[in-house]
Amino acid sequence: MNTIPHFINGERVVGEGRSSSVYNPSTGEVIGQIVLADSATLKHAILAAKAAFPAWRNTPPAKRAQVLFRFKQLLEENEKAIVELISQEHGKTIEDAAGELRRGIENVEYACGAPELLKGEYNRNVGPNIDAWSDFQPLGVVAGITPFNFPAMVPLWMYPLAIACGNTFVLKPSERDPSSTLLIAELFYQAGLPKGVLNVVNGDKEAVDALIEHPDVKALSFVGSTPIAEYIYAEGTKRGKRVQALGGAKNHAVFMPDADLDSAVSALMGAAYGSCGERCMAISVAVCVGDEIADALVEKVVPAIQALKIGPGTSCGLDMGPLVTSGALERVTGYIAAGEAAGAKLLVDGRGFKVAGHENGFFLGGTLFDNVSTDMTIYKDEIFGPVLCIVRVKSLEEAMQLINEHEYGNGTCIFTRDGEAARIFCDEIEVGMVGVNVPLPVPVAYHSFGGWKRSLFGDLHAYGPDGVRFYTRRKAITQRWPKREITEKAQFAFPSNV
Ligand code: NAD
Repeated sequence: MNTIPHFINGERVVGEGRSSSVYNPSTGEVIGQIVLADSATLKHAILAAKAAFPAWRNTPPAKRAQVLFRFKQLLEENEKAIVELISQEHGKTIEDAAGELRRGIENVEYACGAPELLKGEYNRNVGPNIDAWSDFQPLGVVAGITPFNFPAMVPLWMYPLAIACGNTFVLKPSERDPSSTLLIAELFYQAGLPKGVLNVVNGDKEAVDALIEHPDVKALSFVGSTPIAEYIYAEGTKRGKRVQALGGAKNHAVFMPDADLDSAVSALMGAAYGSCGERCMAISVAVCVGDEIADALVEKVVPAIQALKIGPGTSCGLDMGPLVTSGALERVTGYIAAGEAAGAKLLVDGRGFKVAGHENGFFLGGTLFDNVSTDMTIYKDEIFGPVLCIVRVKSLEEAMQLINEHEYGNGTCIFTRDGEAARIFCDEIEVGMVGVNVPLPVPVAYHSFGGWKRSLFGDLHAYGPDGVRFYTRRKAITQRWPKREITEKAQFAFPSNV
C-alpha cells in the first residue's frame, strides 16, 4: 500500500498514528494511506518554518524570484505527472486537471514579480530633511489549509506569493487527494528552495487545530466549506492571527430574454457539469427571465446533459468524471431525492449512472431540475455535484433580488446582449466575482479572488494585489538626517508642516 508522506524541512517524513484512506474515485479502490498528523508533527513543521524564516526574510526578493522562475519551469516540465495524480485521486478529467495546473502556474508567474510587488512607497522631504517610506515586511510563519477540489491550484494561490513576500509556510492539504500537492512541493525544493521554507503536513481537524493554536503561526489562509471557514476565522482571529477564510458558494447565472442562446447553453454546460460540479465557482442555479427563454433553455440543455461523456477522469476526451468519494455521492443523491420530494420538476435524473468496467466508481449522471423555488434545500444549499436548478422569474430586478438575498456571494454571471442590463447587474449585485457572458469569472492571477457574504471571512481577497497585502505587514519609517550646523529647539507642539 502506498503510504503518502509529510514533507517537512525539505524531507519526506512518514509519520505514525491515525490514518485515512485515499481512493481512486473512478474505481472505488483504496490507492493510498495518509497518516493524519498529530500536534507534535505540526510543531516539528512549524519550528522548521520558524528556523528558516530569518535567512529567507533577508534573502533579496530578486533571489527569491529566481527560485520561483525555476519552480515555474519545473511545473511545466512535470505537467503530465502532476495532472495524472490530480485526476487519479480527485477524479476530474485530464484536460480539467491541466487547466487547474495552468491557473496555478499563473500565480507562480505573478509571484515572480516579487521585487516589483515589494517595492514599497517613498516620499522625500515630508518635512525639513525628513524622508518617509512604507515597507512591506513578511509576517513570519504562515499556514494554509486547502480543499480537495483543486489540490494543485488552491495551494498555488497561497504559498508561492507568501514565500515570495519572505514568509515561510506550513501547508495542510486536503486529506482526500494530497499526492499532486506533495509532488509540487518537492519540485519547489528542486528549484532551490532552502530547507524549511515550505512544509506540507497531512491531517484533519487535529492538524488544523494545532496550526490555529500555535503562537508561532502568524496568519492562516483557508479555502473550503463555509462552516469550517467560519470556525477557523473565529478561532484564529481570537488568538490575534491574521485570517483569510474562503468558504462555499451557490452561484447563479441569469439568462435574459435576449441572450445568445447557443453560446449561453455551451457556457452553462461547462460551468454546471465541468469537474462534476465540484467547483466553488460552478453554476448551480440558472435564473431565467421569462418563460420563453426558460423553455428554450430546457429544450437545449436536456439533450446536452444526456449526451455528456462520463467516465474515469484519467481517460482523455471526457466531459465529466466521478464525484470524489462515496460520501459525496451519497450526499448529492440525497439532495436529488429532497428536491423531488419538495416538488421540483426532475427533468434529468443522474442517479444510478454506471460506467461499464467501473461499476464501483463514484459516478453520478448530470441532473436537471426545473421549477425550483427558493425555499427548497436544493436551492438554498451548496450541493457540490452535477445538479443544476432552473428558477423562473419575471424580471431582472426579481433575478437580482433573489441572488442578493442568498447567503452566499461567491460568483455570478449574466447572459445578455443588453449593455444597460449588464451594467446594472455589475453595479448592484452583491457578489464578489461577476461575469458578463463569461460563465466562470475566476479572476486572473493579477486580480484577486474572493466572494462576499458567507463566501469569505476576512478583509482581503486571495492572491493578486490583496494576497501581497495579506502576506505582508506595513511598516512606515520616518527618517531625519539633519544638517550638522542646524540645531533645532525643542518642540512641544505636535509636529506638522504649518
Ligand atoms: P472542507 O471544508 O471539508 O475541507 C477543507 C479543509 O478543511 C481540508 O483541508 C480539511 O481537512 C479541513 N477540515 C475539514 N474538517 C475540518 C474541521 N472540522 N476542522 C478543521 N479543519 C477541517 O472542504 P472540501 O470538501 O475539501 O472542499 C469543498 C468546499 O470548499 C466547498 O464548500 C467549496 O465551495 C469550497 N471551496 C471554496 C473555494 C473558494 O475560493 N471560495 C475554492 C474551492 C473550494
